[in-house]
Amino acid sequence: MRRRWLSVLQRYPHLLEWGYRVTLAMFRGLRPLMARLGYNRVARLLVPVERWSKGAIFGCQMCGQCTLHATGMTCPMTCPKNLRNGPCGGVRPNGHCEVIPEMPCVWVQAYERSQHMPIFGPEIRHIQPPLDHRLAGTSAWVNLITGRAQDTGIVWGEHE
Ligand code: SF4
Repeated sequence: MRRRWLSVLQRYPHLLEWGYRVTLAMFRGLRPLMARLGYNRVARLLVPVERWSKGAIFGCQMCGQCTLHATGMTCPMTCPKNLRNGPCGGVRPNGHCEVIPEMPCVWVQAYERSQHMPIFGPEIRHIQPPLDHRLAGTSAWVNLITGRAQDTGIVWGEHE
C-alpha cells in the first residue's frame, strides 16, 4: 500500500476545505490562460502534481472526477469497494470496514470530517454520479474547469 505521509492533514478538514476553495478560485481565475495554453498541455503539467500531492494527502487514485469536497475531503476511491456513494451495509459496529477489519470505514470518516466543513460539508448528502472510467489518469482540476467531469455523457438518475 502506498504511504500517505501527508494524510495527517485529513485531521483538519476545515483547513482542507479552505485550501480547496482557494485552489478552485485560482483555477477559475486562470481559466482564460489555461484555454489559451491549451487544456491538454496544462493537464500534462498538472497530472504529476495532482498524483503526488493528492496521493500523499488523500491516497488519490487519479480517477479524474474528484469528489473530495463533497465527501469530507476523503477519497471514496480508497474504499476497498470503490464506492462513490456510501457507506455500504457492511460497516462494523466499531466503524471499521467489513473487507479490511483493521481499517476505519472510509465513508464513516467522510461523514465525520464533513461535519467540520461549513461550506461543502452538507454535500455529503448528495448522490454522486457514476464514475466515468474514461477519465482515469487525467487531471481532475482540468476536468472540473472544462466541465468534462460533470458532463460525462452517462445518463443516470432518470426514472420512467
Ligand atoms: S476522488 Fe478521484 S481525483 Fe479525487 S482524490 Fe479520489 S481518486 Fe483522486
